[in-house]
Amino acid sequence: MAQGRSKVTVTPPSSKISDYYGSNVFGTKQMKESLAPSVFKKVMEAIDKGSKIDPSTAEEIASAVKVWALSKGVTHYTHWFQPLTGSTAEKHDSFFDAHAGLEKFKGSALVQQEPDASSFPHGGIRSTFEARGYTAWDPSSPIFIFDKTLCIPTIFVSFTGEALDYKTPLLKSMEAINSAAIEVCQLFDRNVRKVSPSLGVEQEYFVIDKALFATRPDLVMSGRTVFGHNPARGQQLEDHYFGSIPTRVKDFMMDFEIEAHKLGIPVSTRHNEVAPGQFEVAPLFEEINKAIDHNQLLMDLMDKVAEKHNLKVLFHEKPFAGVNGSGKHNNWSLITDTGVNLFQPSSSARENLQFLTFVVATVKAVYDHADLLRSSIASASNDFRLGANEAPPAIMSVFLGSTLSSVLDELEKNGNVKIEKGDNMYMKLGISKIPEIILDNTDRNRTSPFAFTGNKFEFRAVGSGANSAGPMTVLNVIVAETLRNLLKDIDKEVNAGKEKKIAIVNVLRKYIKDSKKIRFEGDGYSDEWAKEAEKRGLSNLKSTPAALDIYHDKKVAELFAKHNVLNPKELHARHEIMLENYIKKVQIESRVMGDLALNHVIPTSILYQNKLIENANGLAGLGLDNTAAIETIKEISKHLESINKYVHAMTEARKQLNKEDDIVKRAKGYCNDVKEAYFDKIRYAVDKLELVVDDELWPLVKYREMLFIK
Ligand code: ADP
Ligand code: MG
Repeated sequence: MAQGRSKVTVTPPSSKISDYYGSNVFGTKQMKESLAPSVFKKVMEAIDKGSKIDPSTAEEIASAVKVWALSKGVTHYTHWFQPLTGSTAEKHDSFFDAHAGLEKFKGSALVQQEPDASSFPHGGIRSTFEARGYTAWDPSSPIFIFDKTLCIPTIFVSFTGEALDYKTPLLKSMEAINSAAIEVCQLFDRNVRKVSPSLGVEQEYFVIDKALFATRPDLVMSGRTVFGHNPARGQQLEDHYFGSIPTRVKDFMMDFEIEAHKLGIPVSTRHNEVAPGQFEVAPLFEEINKAIDHNQLLMDLMDKVAEKHNLKVLFHEKPFAGVNGSGKHNNWSLITDTGVNLFQPSSSARENLQFLTFVVATVKAVYDHADLLRSSIASASNDFRLGANEAPPAIMSVFLGSTLSSVLDELEKNGNVKIEKGDNMYMKLGISKIPEIILDNTDRNRTSPFAFTGNKFEFRAVGSGANSAGPMTVLNVIVAETLRNLLKDIDKEVNAGKEKKIAIVNVLRKYIKDSKKIRFEGDGYSDEWAKEAEKRGLSNLKSTPAALDIYHDKKVAELFAKHNVLNPKELHARHEIMLENYIKKVQIESRVMGDLALNHVIPTSILYQNKLIENANGLAGLGLDNTAAIETIKEISKHLESINKYVHAMTEARKQLNKEDDIVKRAKGYCNDVKEAYFDKIRYAVDKLELVVDDELWPLVKYREMLFIK
């Protein structure tokens, strides 16, 4: 099968990125230029403080947006939102009003719409008689032009106000962590008025030729190859082809980078290969809501630009067995409106205590809510990556690096250090000198799912295809919860007569001690760690349905309700949707597997086997030795028999499960009785046949053809 070629030549609009950066965004600069000062001020307040935009202000903004959009040749607008399908959604409306004979865009159309939303997942929230949902403008994320359409970032909620999307709870979780973190900051600095989570998303992806992609029904239907033998396993393969990026892929990267810059997405692509055919793109970090919108938009953009280059981007976590999987590293930190990164050690001893407070609270949060955090990254596709032989394990642990780890150990040990009046407490506790050491610190652990990396935490277990809002909402909530507890515990100490500083240190010591089990500095991929983690009592939830069981825990519902992020009804709906998605994915893969095996692999193998039979008979007729041919004929028969047997048994298992009304049981059944029971067995036989059957006849494009783009 020949690979396609791209005739696209990529030329940036200008040699200076700053000439076109953000040109497709109605951002602060454009707003300032086109809005009356009083209106501009109101928008800024809405962005900074979340205040409401009144109808007349909305009218003026809409009018300015329309003028700007029309000047760029844009004819349609849409509310752009992130339903729980995992992709983005939009419904286009024309600016043109045929009755009036001119272009119109009302303030009300900017602020709110009612898309026909009955086809989006709702987990039972929308009953059939009330299928409406509505979208509402999120002014904190800028309006942009994509694909000749004006896109307005919005939240998506049911008519009764329940969240049906990723953005709504994310925004609420930002408020939860903001209010808790402000209070903690004020123990150290009275001037802090706002704390925002920041996020930098490193996105890994595979690129393959579009024509080859189209020949693989498994890739088209499920995003991954359900069959395919890796010709030269692992390292060997990598060493051989490492380093050089094909021109076609480089052109693609340059092209989407230009478009991303026009959209104000601060990307810098990494021109390196991680695995054969695998690449990475990382933007500069931004305020978390924007960063997530930008990541979702970037994925859409890459998809679209790839078309032009006759390429296909794969965001699946494990498109190729035996080859590295893809993740989406979520680099997360907390930054105050006074410009302090709370995870940045500083030269001021007082700020260092603040730094340690936030680090310790985060570690404690991961310890206390490890299962919930694990559930936030659970999906059918990520299951192929987590807990497989590479990629972060499904065991949640925190890596701090030896320096910070010993700072925490010291602090815990020095529990009995007496602090007298006039003492330099920071010196005595050994926390006045953290900065130089940590910034020098180059020890990095790539095998930890949750690592401190100098001035931020990096959550690496997030799947490459996931919407980061899911895990980031959970992270914000669990840290908010821990900060609240910390405040209470400090209060108790202060009320018992302790000096504030001492009270803080005492609470930190306790938290360090309590959460010690979650800290791990070694090789997260090793079997020893799995054993050690089990001894420590840490969970190792390898499958999505098992990971999602945490949602039955009443405490989880209370946690989300307490921080006003999701009410029990919304949480329950999400749980159902995640289970539903899981079942659908496994079901599709199982069907594709059956189809490919029965309709492609078996007939082709029989064809080849018949040739061998002819050959064997011919040899026998000539009185020659035909044992080799007969051996192969037998081997083929053996694999064909097992494929036949397993595919039919798998289909039967699906049939039985589809009668199961309990969705949890159905999901677990799909995991154990379909996926675990048959996927590997069928694949093993098919991949063996791939090695035996004539290459000319084999019906599926092979790994070596897909992974090395020409
Ligand atoms: P790695 O070493 O893991 O490849 P980098 O150091 O290149 O990662 O940075 C990864 C991401 O972290 C980038 O998107 C970067 O902008 C982001 N990042 C840097 N500082 C912060 C921060 N304070 N908060 C959030 N993200 C950050
Ligand atoms: Mg990283």
